[in-house]
Amino acid sequence: MKLITKEFNQKTGIQNYLDLIDPESDMTNSTKIISEIFRYDVPLQKYTSFKTGGAAEIFVEPLGALELKRVLQFCKAEQKKIFIFGKGTNLLVGDNGVKGVVIHLGGINFKNLERDGRYVLAGGGVNLPKLIRTVALSGFGGLEALAGIPGTVGGAVMMNAGGKYGDISDTIRSLTTMAFDGTITKYMRGDVEFEYRRCNLSEQIVIEVEFQLNESKIEIVLEKMDKIYNEKQESQPLGTFNAGSIFKNAAEYKAAELIDKANLKGLKVGGAVVSEKHANFIVNTGNATSTDILDLIKIIKETIKKKYDVSLEEEIHIW
Ligand SMILES: Cc1cc2nc3c(=O)[nH]c(=O)nc-3n(C[C@H](O)[C@H](O)[C@H](O)COP(=O)(O)OP(=O)(O)OC[C@H]3O[C@@H](n4cnc5c(N)ncnc54)[C@H](O)[C@@H]3O)c2cc1C
Repeated sequence: MKLITKEFNQKTGIQNYLDLIDPESDMTNSTKIISEIFRYDVPLQKYTSFKTGGAAEIFVEPLGALELKRVLQFCKAEQKKIFIFGKGTNLLVGDNGVKGVVIHLGGINFKNLERDGRYVLAGGGVNLPKLIRTVALSGFGGLEALAGIPGTVGGAVMMNAGGKYGDISDTIRSLTTMAFDGTITKYMRGDVEFEYRRCNLSEQIVIEVEFQLNESKIEIVLEKMDKIYNEKQESQPLGTFNAGSIFKNAAEYKAAELIDKANLKGLKVGGAVVSEKHANFIVNTGNATSTDILDLIKIIKETIKKKYDVSLEEEIHIW
């Protein structure tokens, strides 16, 4: 992580996003430049943690904010549907794939990581485990509650990822988004509504997040991370092809407990199985299709509705 000396509290973003002037804003030129970085018919199966799913009509990894803005201009001009892909760890992509442009914040400018004292600025494409570990090794606490959660910073913010020790929104100070119309906005934490596994930023791409951390001792933070990670390892089928919890919990119930009580652990459809280790996880045993997983989800929902009159709601996003 780059240590910066100047205060960035007032700074809006990695590259002065708000002053973003596109010298190629002429659409013809823009379309030409952008089409050079497009990849067509890209199988998303290799990118999702489920290791299932069809192809993206167009897949693009813009280098930074300027290129991202051009991609969005293209999508608007060509009326292409926009899909934002983080690390695909909470996604189920249908076997027929997606028609439109899948944008992955894989470009170098979205992977920036800077620290100024207890403030950390992270690009939307930064790997979440990398951020958590880097921050911990700098002697700061706050993000260790997210130990063991895969994905990117942008995806984690959109999902308000977390667990019983806290959610990512607890440590956010501000965040910057680019809306699908290209507008850039910096929000302070209080401007955004964060709820359980969601926030209200629709049609916006999280391009940068500022975290506010607590000074701590490296050993203390690492010890807490280890404890949380070990708990996960004991209770979840880590190291398998899955997408985390399939269903949301509610105040009245825990999805895993209901599924377990209904004896659905081990239930299989094709290559998809309800995990024996954690009933709210579906595992691709190697040859599952997304249709197998969808069928299994349907059976679980129907069974739980019939047995307990509870309508389970998916936590995973389905494309
Ligand atoms: C083994 C395992 C354990 C997990 N444990 C947990 C856990 O304990 N707690 C928890 O909350 N989750 C958990 N998850 C789920 C998942 O890791 C988190 O939801 C994670 O934050 C998703 O990040 P991602 O980058 O992979 O997002 P993706 O799966 O790629 O996308 C998720 C959603 O966010 C949107 N999105 C992604 N990036 C951006 C962006 N930059 N701007 C705008 N929208 C964006 C996508 O369009 C999609 O709608 C787990 C998953 C696995 C596989």
